[in-house]
Amino acid sequence: MIKADMHMHTTYSDGIFSPYEVVKKCKQRGLSVISITDHDSVDAFPDAIEYGKEFGVEVIPGVELSALVDDRDVHILGYFLDYTNKRLLEYLEFFRRERVKRAERIVAKLNNINVPLTIESVLERAGHGAVGRPHIASAMVEEGYIETYHQAFEKFIGNGGPAFEKKFQLTLKDAIQLISSSGGLSFLAHPGRFTTEELLHQTIRSGLDGIEVIHPSHQPSHTSYYRGVVNEYFLLESGGSDFHGGKKNDDEVLGNFYIDESRVNMMKHRLFSGNSPKK
Ligand code: AMP
Ligand code: FE
Ligand code: FE
Ligand code: ZN
Repeated sequence: MIKADMHMHTTYSDGIFSPYEVVKKCKQRGLSVISITDHDSVDAFPDAIEYGKEFGVEVIPGVELSALVDDRDVHILGYFLDYTNKRLLEYLEFFRRERVKRAERIVAKLNNINVPLTIESVLERAGHGAVGRPHIASAMVEEGYIETYHQAFEKFIGNGGPAFEKKFQLTLKDAIQLISSSGGLSFLAHPGRFTTEELLHQTIRSGLDGIEVIHPSHQPSHTSYYRGVVNEYFLLESGGSDFHGGKKNDDEVLGNFYIDESRVNMMKHRLFSGNSPKK
């Protein structure tokens, strides 16, 4: 069986390994096809594709966008995008600038409640990557303001927490449109977080190409439920490890959450047969 892991992060967002290290690890874990899906960045490409050739791993360009649905942060994976598309790159740059402003607002809120974290230490941690709450949580742990990464979310920066700040989010339709106008396919990421069927159907009606059925956060019941939804609505099935490296989601997931190559071929078929609906 040819294993494909269609969800992972590098230092271009909140992953701790460079694209080169990620591709190398994937090869070591027996993966033959991967998609790198950084939050709001396609900067891993085209280099990651070249590293893939070196290691004998097919690297599919991807991205993970955030959309606002019913006041929730819903993640959309885009695959097979033209990572040189000008409009896409402009949007991603805008999202990353908004992320910096939001990190500044979160740090200001933390400072007001006696957590003297600095924006410099957060941005340093993010480096060239799209800055996110994971960088803030790690900085808080390393500088001794909180014991664990999860506590940082629970006590401070998680949704509704005292230092929570929203990030800029597209509507779901706009996120899907941005992906399809860059030549990509869009997938609902880790839907296990969804609580209502209504919300799931709302996202399906917006024109998604598929659903991420396999994900470390999914119980077996989730997997079978979402696979049923995929079949019922003639959608495509994806899956992956959501590998970030580090404590956040350690090495164990890599190589253990994947889809069969045939699923990737179905995506390619949808893409290249011209059957993707115009959005
Ligand atoms: P951001 O895109 O900056 O809002 O960060 C979102 C990321 O933070 C998610 O993809 C998760 O990896 C992480 N995250 C969000 N909520 C929690 C939580 N309660 N506990 C741990 N990690 C979380
Ligand atoms: Fe992430
Ligand atoms: Fe996600
Ligand atoms: Zn992810």
